Amino acid sequence: MLCQSSTELMELVTLVKPYTKQGKVANYIPALGRANPSDLSISVFNIHSSKCQSAGDISVRFTLQSISKVITLALALVDHDEEYVFNKVGMEPTGDPFNSIIKLEMLSPSKPLNPMINAGALVVTSMIKGGTVQEKLERIMSFVRKLSGNNDISYSEEVAISEYNTGSLNRALCYYMKQHNVLDANVEELMELYTKQCSIETTCFDLAQIGAVMANNGTCPITGERFIPIEIAKICKTFMVTCGMYNASGEFAIRVGIPAKSGVSGGILGIVPNEAGIGVYSPSLDEKGNSVAGLKLLEILSKKHNFSMF
Ligand code: GLU
Repeated sequence: MLCQSSTELMELVTLVKPYTKQGKVANYIPALGRANPSDLSISVFNIHSSKCQSAGDISVRFTLQSISKVITLALALVDHDEEYVFNKVGMEPTGDPFNSIIKLEMLSPSKPLNPMINAGALVVTSMIKGGTVQEKLERIMSFVRKLSGNNDISYSEEVAISEYNTGSLNRALCYYMKQHNVLDANVEELMELYTKQCSIETTCFDLAQIGAVMANNGTCPITGERFIPIEIAKICKTFMVTCGMYNASGEFAIRVGIPAKSGVSGGILGIVPNEAGIGVYSPSLDEKGNSVAGLKLLEILSKKHNFSMF
């Protein structure tokens, strides 16, 4: 039985703190470059006790970045059936960096290989129902608020503008897919929605609560209310195992062995199925885009409590 005390997590944070000196804060989105590299925090939400233990710089808010891809995938699968979604985006890991265009060019049709890479996530975001960008964004944010139980969640205008103004590569992916009839959206509107979705701000406590819903197969562990259909929760968790940690997902499956999704802000959403949701934050990243200290925290915790599903 999983039972972290705050003291255990505090000791773990102290042990792992030196790792925050390794790696680099992402700065290809200029506003992300202002994060404090020594920040480190973790929250673990136990679905049986509905208690959350936390340690470290837990009040620091960070943007979801790629973690939002799991949430929009769940919402797109609520909005449309599986056939519709997976007609446009595949189910296979790529082995390439998250923003790579290479497989789009090599494969025919130019369908992105999965929803966790940028090309796939852009297609998924284009499927979110709503009349306007604002309406679609509100639906995504309401979903995040519901999953996290935090009604104050919003997005960082500063990070969204910073990414919107510098997102040439994501625009290139969109135009490439548009040319090949994989994407049908207005690219500027999609970029506005995608950059705002990636800029939704949470703490690691919020992430742990979101993870707890997924760990509980889509049902809120506190109220028992179903937030995500069980089949959709299953699909999301499976993608997190196969593609959630960029092109280091295989190594992560061996070292930690749980569904997880990281973002270039340094956040990681972890799920211990039927046990707990975990939120981790530390902004210094390795060359694949995963938080160095965040990975270390999860690895130690997983080994100690035998989290691995495998
Ligand atoms: N907004 C980021 C991008 O599209 C997300 C990347 C990530 O977190 O992996 O480049």
